[in-house]
Amino acid sequence: MDLNDIIFHLGEDFPGDYGPGAPAIHQTSNFVFKDVSSMRSALEKEDEIPFYTRGTNPTIKLLATKIAALEGTEDALMFGSGSAAIASAVLSQIKSGDHIICIDQPYSWTKKLITQWLPRFGVSHSFFTSEDEIESLIQDNTQLIYLESPNSWTFELQDLERVSTLATKHGIVSILDNSYASPLLQQPAAHGIDLVVHAATKYLGGHSDVVAGVVCGSKTKIKPLFNGEYMTLGGVLSPFDAWLLIRSLRTLPLRMKEIGRTTEKVLEFLKDQAKVSQIYFPQHSLRDKTLSEKYLNGPSGLFTIDLNTTDIEKVESFCNKLSKFKLGPSWGSYGSLAFPAITTISSMNYDNPAVVIGRIRFSVGLEDSNTLIKDLKSALEVL
Ligand SMILES: *Cc1c(COP(=O)(O)O)cnc(C)c1O
Repeated sequence: MDLNDIIFHLGEDFPGDYGPGAPAIHQTSNFVFKDVSSMRSALEKEDEIPFYTRGTNPTIKLLATKIAALEGTEDALMFGSGSAAIASAVLSQIKSGDHIICIDQPYSWTKKLITQWLPRFGVSHSFFTSEDEIESLIQDNTQLIYLESPNSWTFELQDLERVSTLATKHGIVSILDNSYASPLLQQPAAHGIDLVVHAATKYLGGHSDVVAGVVCGSKTKIKPLFNGEYMTLGGVLSPFDAWLLIRSLRTLPLRMKEIGRTTEKVLEFLKDQAKVSQIYFPQHSLRDKTLSEKYLNGPSGLFTIDLNTTDIEKVESFCNKLSKFKLGPSWGSYGSLAFPAITTISSMNYDNPAVVIGRIRFSVGLEDSNTLIKDLKSALEVL
């Protein structure tokens, strides 16, 4: 299906004259029925027919249908946060006594799930940094390989086809966090990944006003997830937030294109700065060149730099001088953001054992590239 058809038309064949030009928000917790028989048949297909909003709601369903189509999967389920989506997807695939193989240094709360939460239920784990290590880490009880490509903060890529082939060979399920690329820049299911998860809070939302998550996969994988973790843990999205996300999707291709273009210009400026010792960006990494050409359809807007200093006060002055890049967590919005690694040192929840003092993660938004470059230039002058 054509990208425009998915974003503008899929699931929106509203009947008759005087139909709404925009999808309705079904802001309701429940649905009512004309007789017992129709109520019974709705309940029989709770994953398809609106019965109760923790199960199926038309607004949320419309959004899920579009995101599944963007990812090229049969089905998708929306969640109230990326973390709820990740935890539910992982839990849907494992039981007590199982083993998980995970990319080293995934998103902080994914790491916490795997290293601190799941061990309480007898689920063990191993981390890998290179795909070469995976085969030797596989045990009889390995049930899941968890990927995040590009990875958080330093954006290393994993070879999706290599991992999914290995997983299939050993009867292991694969999950990939695709938040960095969005479905427009990378479609992991086409490379054999079983479940694709997103923090829809980031690019899919794009406006810093919704926290949401999604799990995409085959009907065979999604149906038990619906009947299990989705309905039981109940971490669902609200209809209004789903409606905002449908609205966000309308501009996703435009936003990604513009953000990618601006980011290339900003990086062009940064790579000539002596005060910047390192830039982490998939397309600029020699190590990941072949992989980014193979898997990514273009540049995203998230990158990290290391400033050429180990002086915390100088790093703070640099960050405080930024005015167009706001200091804050999250990313993928219209507004540019900077996240200094030094803010994580005293965090009780942020598992970041070896903080690089000069490390700052940037998310490029929809501002003009000259504005952002000027902002960085004046901040670099304080160093
Ligand atoms: C933000 C983020 C998450 C978590 O999403 P929330 O909506 O904040 O729960 C997961 N993975 C990645 C890569 C993220 O950046």
